[in-house]
Amino acid sequence: MLLDEHHPGPPLARRQRRRDAAQAAAGDEHLRAGPHRRTVSAYAAAMAQRKWWGWGDGDVAFSHADKPDLGPFLERHLGLDVERIADRPPHLDQLDLPEPQLGPEVRAALEEAVGARHVSTDALERLTHARGKSLRDLVRARRGDLGRLPDAVVRPAAEAELEAIMAAALEHDAVLIPFGGGTNISGSLEAPADEARPVVSVDMARMGRVLELDEVAQLARVQAGAFGPDLEAQLNARGWTVGHFPDSFTHSTLGGWIATRSSGMQSDKYGDVADLTRAVRVVTPAGVLVTRPVPHASTGPSVREMVLGSEGRLGIISEATVHVHRVPAERRILGYLFPDWERAIAAMREIAALDSRPSVTRVSDAHETAFSFATKKASSRVDDLKSAALKTFLTRRKGYDLEQMCLSFIGYEGTKRHVAAQRRQVGKVVSALGGVCIGAGPGELYDQKKFDTPYIRDFLLDRAALADVSETAMAWSALLPVYRTVTGAAEEAFADLGVRGYVMCHLSHSYHAGACLYFTFGINPVADRDGLEQYARVKNAMQQAFVDSGATLSHHHAVGTEHAQWLEEDISAPGVAMLRALFEGVDPGGNLNPGKIVDAGRVGAQRSGAHVD
Ligand code: FAD
Repeated sequence: MLLDEHHPGPPLARRQRRRDAAQAAAGDEHLRAGPHRRTVSAYAAAMAQRKWWGWGDGDVAFSHADKPDLGPFLERHLGLDVERIADRPPHLDQLDLPEPQLGPEVRAALEEAVGARHVSTDALERLTHARGKSLRDLVRARRGDLGRLPDAVVRPAAEAELEAIMAAALEHDAVLIPFGGGTNISGSLEAPADEARPVVSVDMARMGRVLELDEVAQLARVQAGAFGPDLEAQLNARGWTVGHFPDSFTHSTLGGWIATRSSGMQSDKYGDVADLTRAVRVVTPAGVLVTRPVPHASTGPSVREMVLGSEGRLGIISEATVHVHRVPAERRILGYLFPDWERAIAAMREIAALDSRPSVTRVSDAHETAFSFATKKASSRVDDLKSAALKTFLTRRKGYDLEQMCLSFIGYEGTKRHVAAQRRQVGKVVSALGGVCIGAGPGELYDQKKFDTPYIRDFLLDRAALADVSETAMAWSALLPVYRTVTGAAEEAFADLGVRGYVMCHLSHSYHAGACLYFTFGINPVADRDGLEQYARVKNAMQQAFVDSGATLSHHHAVGTEHAQWLEEDISAPGVAMLRALFEGVDPGGNLNPGKIVDAGRVGAQRSGAHVD
């Protein structure tokens, strides 16, 4: 049975659930043992620390001061004066925050479900739960355009509480929006502007425990609200890892990863979240959906797959069973240089075809390579000499044109012997294609910096420049044509708009049949026209180029509302109809995160009875 409210599960699971319920009922502040223990007020405090107008923690910011080449680089390519602050986010008390629309009956039902102190209508709480972190989200927040805030934020501690929240929402016709870390960049969280029903954000932060570790099967049962660092800390303490490290790792959750079909930097070895998620439990309007943690099943279309990428439209994922691996004895990320993009891509393709898969394969095009070098910190005299010697070697001995050079990182994990064997195999491919290894230093630096880099978007917004990303996947045979079409579309959009712009790209996540191309672009918009409109012209041109050239609208950033307009071109009209039928069948009242994936922006029409085709 697929939708089985009464599925007993294995005895340990049953015991655990009883314990969850007992803990939740006790209203214990210190619910959790282990490294991720936090108090209830700490969850709210952690969210309050986050920038509602930007990325990450309030006390962390990107700076150009220690990167002497960055200012000149931005001046050269975007005409940007990094010393000139052109825009600042407003202060909270400058905002016009609407009162919550939460009737006393809904409130009472929610309080009954999770306890009064886990239902919040606080203005800052509602603001931090309203949206994700797309560029559009951040720009609108900075403008004081807040959209439809949730009316309440609830924090359940157990699956039984999620069931009670679901029952309350259905009874009172409220909208539920599951909230992980709020890091999505596809408009996956925002309630429709005209939503007249009460909107409740279900923050999963209190459900962050590893419930069970099956070392024989190499599986862990984990509550869906586990944040990346908390999840890894609990598993690492016992010698295990999930190995899922998206760039948003520090602020995103297992449930969010599953609901958006996320990919981590080491997906070449550990798989994307869709590969490593073996089973899910989801609280749906019809009861708790339970799938079994088996390696493969022939049970009709995969219900587990339907939940993957469902963005809260099918229910609230309470827990998942995921692959775990022994923490590797050795982990190395080495830097490589290639003479040009074509040979770099050929190398990645050949490496993907090797038997021993590296954990990371990533290579930047010449534009992204130039940007990476521009973000380097001030170097010592010795470093300068070394880099001059490397340049001489590359140009004179290897015949490189430094303007075309591509920087790559390849990661290796496993036993010492395995890592050495992998490096030898990769080394042969690299040198056959004119590449050179530049050692562990750049790779280590990249590894350390990767969670800080996202802060650069706010730095640019302060200077009125708009930067964002668009990523896709395609077959190896289509990769270079897609790359050329998409960069061409971006350049054309810059020219049409008459703006200074920069587009760069890297390949990451290699597969048997293809790879992911990840584009980053920035513009210095003209001041007398709406910046978001100019940004949308570029972003839309790139997205359109994806689907026009046979690639997907997103490899790992989901659909939300940002990408919904390209869904039909990507998966065909019957594909969209199938998804709509699924969402409407599971959630006939449209109570679950309406308007995401399909029918973006049309929820009001749907509810008033208008025909939606
Ligand atoms: P949220 O943003 O809170 O929610 C996302 C969607 O999932 C929403 O529709 C929400 O309703 C739903 N949801 C959340 N929890 C549940 C649940 N328990 N049950 C049902 N539905 C749920 N993505 C990558 O894949 N790889 C990257 O490397 C990466 N890097 C990023 C870097 C930056 C700087 C930023 C801003 C984003 C990045 N992202 C990346 C995108 C984002 O981090 C992912 O989409 C992530 O999976 C979202 O997780 P979250 O916990 O923040 O979910």
